[in-house]
Amino acid sequence: MFDINQLVRKNVLNLKPYSSARDEFKGQASVYLDANENPYPTGYNRYPDPHQIELKTKLSKIKHVDVENIFLGNGSDEPIDLLIRAFCEPGVDNVVIPQPTYGMYSVSANINNVAIKSVALTDQFDLDAAQTLAACNANTKLIFLCSPNNPSGNLLSDSTVKKILKDFTGLVIVDEAYIDFTQHAGFVPDLSQYPNLVILQTLSKAWGLAAIRLGICFASKEIVQVLNKIKPPYNISLLSQQVAMEALSQEAQKNEWVKQIIAERTRLENELQKIPIVLQVYPSAANFLLVQIKDAALVYHKLVDRGIIVRDRSTVILCNNCLRITVGTLEENQILIRELGAL
Ligand SMILES: *Cc1c(COP(=O)(O)O)cnc(C)c1O
Repeated sequence: MFDINQLVRKNVLNLKPYSSARDEFKGQASVYLDANENPYPTGYNRYPDPHQIELKTKLSKIKHVDVENIFLGNGSDEPIDLLIRAFCEPGVDNVVIPQPTYGMYSVSANINNVAIKSVALTDQFDLDAAQTLAACNANTKLIFLCSPNNPSGNLLSDSTVKKILKDFTGLVIVDEAYIDFTQHAGFVPDLSQYPNLVILQTLSKAWGLAAIRLGICFASKEIVQVLNKIKPPYNISLLSQQVAMEALSQEAQKNEWVKQIIAERTRLENELQKIPIVLQVYPSAANFLLVQIKDAALVYHKLVDRGIIVRDRSTVILCNNCLRITVGTLEENQILIRELGAL
């Protein structure tokens, strides 16, 4: 049986969290003299809701997830760091990370002195369940999966992810930063079935709000409680909460952008395949393409000289001579195609 108390670090289990002024008094009053705020109204003189209830309620309706199963962070980077800090004893525990993938899992593990066990994805960037599980030992607390995966763009196979969820005794984190660009429902509908499932999403990609830093984490009530216990009290600013509320009321706009970006992705893929130095365009379920190019590092610098910045992934495992290219607007993609074709 899965028992969160067996998994969480002992010091976290025993710690008494900071109790903010807004934790100790909730509700409406006429005179607030409890938080050492400036009493003169600027629109921003009061501390924001530390639990972001209004925003979570809105997300709850859009994502069909109860408020108590939602944690919000300062970007996805914050829940990634908090999960490592809550569950991994520095110098003792480890995390398993299939590679290549998003770099922040390793960076956060390294910052926290938590060992990383890397396993390679297959040559088509899919997950090998047996290899991933074999990499785990008694001190493995977290497995980081990313689907669609960055930088390869593919979805991981459902049945493989589910096998790992079923057979691994620690937490399985599925990062769905790019889920809006796929037809796949993602793993949110499976949340109640897997007590060790943690899903990360973000407003940084499809929703067009990278600047406000809003990461979303879906997990069991027990896991959310652990994260709440160790988060900085006011980790989401009022400005971010307000901008997020506004954007979430415009879901049709997000859907329209997604439609445009997917159409452009298909066009860009076709155009890239006509360019002789392009060796391979990997299929993508995200808003970027992984492209294998002759002399990729050189091409990267030539594009920079022409004012076009893509991401050089050519030194990354399984990404030999690969550039990762974000799908831009029609005009931006045309400039890229023109310059790449003329190299
Ligand atoms: C872009 C991206 C994120 C988003 O991170 P934020 O901190 O929410 O901006 C998360 N995971 C992956 C895999 C990404 O590529």
